Amino acid sequence: MRHSVVIVGAGPAGAVLAYLLAKSGISVTLLERQMDFQREFRGEILMPSGLEPLSQIGLWDQMNQVPHVSLDGINVFINGRQGISVDFHEQLFGEFNPRWVSQPHLLEMIVGECGQFDNFRLLRGTRVRDLIKENNRIVGVIAEQNQERHKLRADLVIGADGRTSRVRHALNLPQKSDAMPMDIVWLKVPGPPSPERKIRAFAGKGRLLFAAPTYDHHLQLGFIIRKGSFREIRERGYPELLDEMARFVDPAFGAHLAQFRDSISNPFLLSTVSDCLTDWTYPGSFLIGDAAHTMSPVGGQGLNIAIRDAIVSANHLIPVLSSDRPLPQLEETTRLIQAERNEEVNTIQKIQALPPKVLLRDTWWSRLLFYILLRVTHGRSKTIKRIDKQSMFGKFTFGVTEVVWLDP
Ligand SMILES: Cc1cc2nc3c(=O)[nH]c(=O)nc-3n(C[C@H](O)[C@H](O)[C@H](O)COP(=O)(O)OP(=O)(O)OC[C@H]3O[C@@H](n4cnc5c(N)ncnc54)[C@H](O)[C@@H]3O)c2cc1C
Repeated sequence: MRHSVVIVGAGPAGAVLAYLLAKSGISVTLLERQMDFQREFRGEILMPSGLEPLSQIGLWDQMNQVPHVSLDGINVFINGRQGISVDFHEQLFGEFNPRWVSQPHLLEMIVGECGQFDNFRLLRGTRVRDLIKENNRIVGVIAEQNQERHKLRADLVIGADGRTSRVRHALNLPQKSDAMPMDIVWLKVPGPPSPERKIRAFAGKGRLLFAAPTYDHHLQLGFIIRKGSFREIRERGYPELLDEMARFVDPAFGAHLAQFRDSISNPFLLSTVSDCLTDWTYPGSFLIGDAAHTMSPVGGQGLNIAIRDAIVSANHLIPVLSSDRPLPQLEETTRLIQAERNEEVNTIQKIQALPPKVLLRDTWWSRLLFYILLRVTHGRSKTIKRIDKQSMFGKFTFGVTEVVWLDP
């Protein structure tokens, strides 16, 4: 008897879980509303906490083929002046040095690997509209492809459909959320002629700007703005947005940004959300990744947490779903998954909530704090020799709890 799973959403959570289940012989249908993964920018920073599990599941060589920039560290500027510079090096992270990876290429690689299993199918351009419920149990989905609706039945429906999850909406599960004071404007500009492999972070005056080098010699810029103020920015026009960014950073980088003031056309807004379902399980269905707990972008955690959710889910689901015996109720198993993941998700979300409260304030005390920080750190280069895994930086890079792939 081959048990069947439908996974809604081929983001990192859905794609990694599909790969592991399919590899174990479970019949998997992965539904993705997009035809390809190029259309939307999503989180692209892979920490050791995401890289090591990908290596454990046997995708390391393939990972190294995915276009990326291995990061050399982070340069922090305060009020436009160089503050501290943190270097990454071999002893700190070994082969799992943080990297800025192209998420579309990463996802194509994973679903490509899934393609070697006959028991796997990916339906692109297929949007789940609703769930099929019988006797208070989810038994399948109603999906739309080329404007036609189809019913797909499965033993388990997994919602991995991200922050606007249709599965979450249909199940109407209780959630708790944190109010986030900021939104992020994302845009990409060509990189400077002599590219560097460090992330630049500019803080001060209630604003924050990140610039990360991408594999195609561009810079991915993330400008953190007051929640709800994007409309005002759009009305003033994108050249003014670039002017504002250029004034905010150090003069050399400002001159670089100013070159593109009349050519950017595609900035877009990420409305920041941080929430978590109190129960990820419903009979016949459960959720992982952003669908279960939408992550704030602080510290670049979303992609890594999604991968870790998928691996823990596979550890629990494979022994049950690959058995020849009739399926037991899966709720007990899916609740164990949530129990194993809750500590990490909740801890990271709590830590993520702190920095915006300080960095996005433009008050006398925050100015004083930045002034002192700049005095203390100006021009210092800090080489961290070892990371305490319990520190904030340690948790952000290595994760809070251990995730180990239990290869069946
Ligand atoms: C614009 C943007 C910028 C981000 N920036 C950052 C960042 O800088 N740092 C960070 O850590 N995190 C960031 N994130 C969050 C990070 O990308 C996510 O935490 C991570 O991708 C979660 O993975 P996931 O697989 O759970 O969901 P997602 O990556 O969101 O994948 C969900 C997939 O489901 C598909 N889907 C959705 N609805 C349906 C449906 N009804 N039917 C079929 N398919 C469906 C989507 O097309 C998508 O491919 C960002 C997210 C967005 C949207």
